[in-house]
Amino acid sequence: MIGFIGMGVMGARMAGHLGARHEVMVWNRTRAKAESVPGVTVSESLQGVAEACDEIFICVSRTEDVREVLAGLKPHLRDGALLVDHSTIEPKAAREMAAEFGRFVDAPVTGGEKGAVDGTLTVFCGGEQADFERAKPMMEAYGKKVRLIGGSGAGQMMKMANQISVVNCVLAMAECLAFADRAGLDMAEAIELVGSGAGGSWSLTNYGPKVLARDWSPGFSIDLQQKDLRYALAAAREMGLDLRGTELVESLFAKLQAEGRGGQATPALFDLVSTGA
Ligand code: NAP
Repeated sequence: MIGFIGMGVMGARMAGHLGARHEVMVWNRTRAKAESVPGVTVSESLQGVAEACDEIFICVSRTEDVREVLAGLKPHLRDGALLVDHSTIEPKAAREMAAEFGRFVDAPVTGGEKGAVDGTLTVFCGGEQADFERAKPMMEAYGKKVRLIGGSGAGQMMKMANQISVVNCVLAMAECLAFADRAGLDMAEAIELVGSGAGGSWSLTNYGPKVLARDWSPGFSIDLQQKDLRYALAAAREMGLDLRGTELVESLFAKLQAEGRGGQATPALFDLVSTGA
């Protein structure tokens, strides 16, 4: 039996794909969300998952949430149990968890809600080769690219690099469309034409239509993005790196959070850029 903890936007879809191929037991803090996942058994408790499963996958929110889940599992884990954490957390915390649990792979994902729905996520893994090889066939239920990057924490470091690129692309998308709109150009045409050349990006193609519809439903929320930027900027500072573009985007998202918009999707940045607020 395989365990999966955390039935949020990402985890519910990932566990659903896993459940189509394997026997899967899930647990979620809010039980109702777990009950809507097809093809899986719902556990009453973390203890139930720990006692039944040899491999346990986790996809919750922040570093402290992963710590809380691990504390609940720890006294009940089976001998040789492997833990795989798909949450985006601080790389140094992932290294501490690996040191504490032994068999622990940090495995944050990218590809967004769409990648989770389609089962086409990219999974950045950090840990021991043997632990990675054991988990890889399971992660391939929802991962198109499942890659061992290096030792513990390396998966989270690659995810930080990913988030730095993502937010700068979101800002570029917002500025491109705000400019097109202010100039009286057709934004849909800008998305199509800019998107097919050197100015194109995943952000423009996937978030552009959300901007057109003024649809700020997550997907990936500003609050979650800010969590990742805190971790990424701290890791950069530790290495003596000054990421001015990323710090700018972090400060713009902070303005939206102060307006009570932290639960909205990150392309809502367009509103701030287009009004010059
Ligand atoms: P989400 O929809 O907000 O779901 C979070 C899940 O974590 C929920 O099931 C929540 O339980 C559970 N949780 C949070 N704190 C907990 C705690 N202390 N104890 C037990 N369970 C807890 O988040 P998500 O979008 O699925 O993201 C999950 C992780 O993947 C995050 O680290 C995020 O940064 C990362 N990620 C997200 C995306 C994306 O596009 N959404 C893309 C790549 C990576 P409840 O249901 O009880 O609240």
